[in-house]
Amino acid sequence: MAREAKQCKQCGRKIYFDGICISCRAENERKEILDLSDWEVEEKIGEICGRVKEIEEWKEIYDLCMKLIRYRDINTCRIAEAAWKEGVIRCQELYKDAPDRIVDEMIKRLGDDVTDSRTAGYLLLCLAQAGGEKVFRAFLDWERQPRKWREKLYVGPAVYATYGGWSFDSEGNYLETNFGKCYPMVRGTAEEKGKSPVKIGVGTGERCPHCGGRIMNLLEIDGCDPRLDFLGIDGKVKAKCCPNCFPYDEGGFCRYEIDGESEIIPYEKNGFEACLEDGDMEEMEGNTYVLGDTSVPLRYAADWEGGSSIGGFAFWIQDCEIRSCPCCGKPMKYLAQIQWDTVMDGMEGNAYIEICKECKIMAVLHQQT
Ligand SMILES: [Zn+2]
Ligand SMILES: [Zn+2]
Ligand SMILES: [Zn+2]
Repeated sequence: MAREAKQCKQCGRKIYFDGICISCRAENERKEILDLSDWEVEEKIGEICGRVKEIEEWKEIYDLCMKLIRYRDINTCRIAEAAWKEGVIRCQELYKDAPDRIVDEMIKRLGDDVTDSRTAGYLLLCLAQAGGEKVFRAFLDWERQPRKWREKLYVGPAVYATYGGWSFDSEGNYLETNFGKCYPMVRGTAEEKGKSPVKIGVGTGERCPHCGGRIMNLLEIDGCDPRLDFLGIDGKVKAKCCPNCFPYDEGGFCRYEIDGESEIIPYEKNGFEACLEDGDMEEMEGNTYVLGDTSVPLRYAADWEGGSSIGGFAFWIQDCEIRSCPCCGKPMKYLAQIQWDTVMDGMEGNAYIEICKECKIMAVLHQQT
């Protein structure tokens, strides 16, 4: 039996249940947090500290804490103190503002061969969030002289570091893997999209040699807009891909030219059949998302319903996946995320775009549950 289509009572979007859609619900929750006074925020932080053990139940207190971090960018120093005291180490974001003393204690525990791999994994993530010179030096040391805990971890400290937005190359040079500012993509009109310095889903007129589908610029960015100064890109760049192929094949890299067209780097086809049709692409091209007027906290979009955004932190549905540049081999830098279902009905997951400005290469990745 076909489910009966209904309308979201807030935005009118097609849904299959009574009430409001998931993205409207997320928007309302976000508004609630944004409306809190500074004093109310402090009070909530106090409540989280008192119930800090409940964070690892991943329910109410965890949700509250993450929303305060995402939408208000709260200083987590007090929460980190409380969490560390209670041995709560499975939620890495709590430690983004961890005091020096806790960072030192964590480094000391990891310097020890008796620390088990599971604990080590959590501690590495917490330290990655805290960042700083001392953490970088320690990670470099553990990368070069692996401790016993490294044996059962799939990846090394350099990869753990990317969860905090940084890493280092094989020569030990510190690298940022995230940009230090974030802008959301917000709903606008077709006319506003025409003027927006960031556009999602622009047709190119080309066809994919592998699947015959439409090739698209998944993202076009005009770095000359003053809002995008933080990117350090002096012109227009285009992240070109075949939306059909890149989620399944290794076809996720393109070479761009400032103010020119991009070229997809040839790849092997894995044999997945095309599932997107021209109509789907037209739907995507018809989206009217535009760059938001003001920047938001770095972790603003790091959520299931985080939407599409430029800069800041991504919401990784799977593991954090910073690609190595196919040209220079160094870790690329996370540039943008696109939440598929906001631009194409029924398409799951997120697309992520990364960049190596030195080599003028962009990567396009896809993750879903
Ligand atoms: Zn809605
Ligand atoms: Zn294709
Ligand atoms: Zn490169």
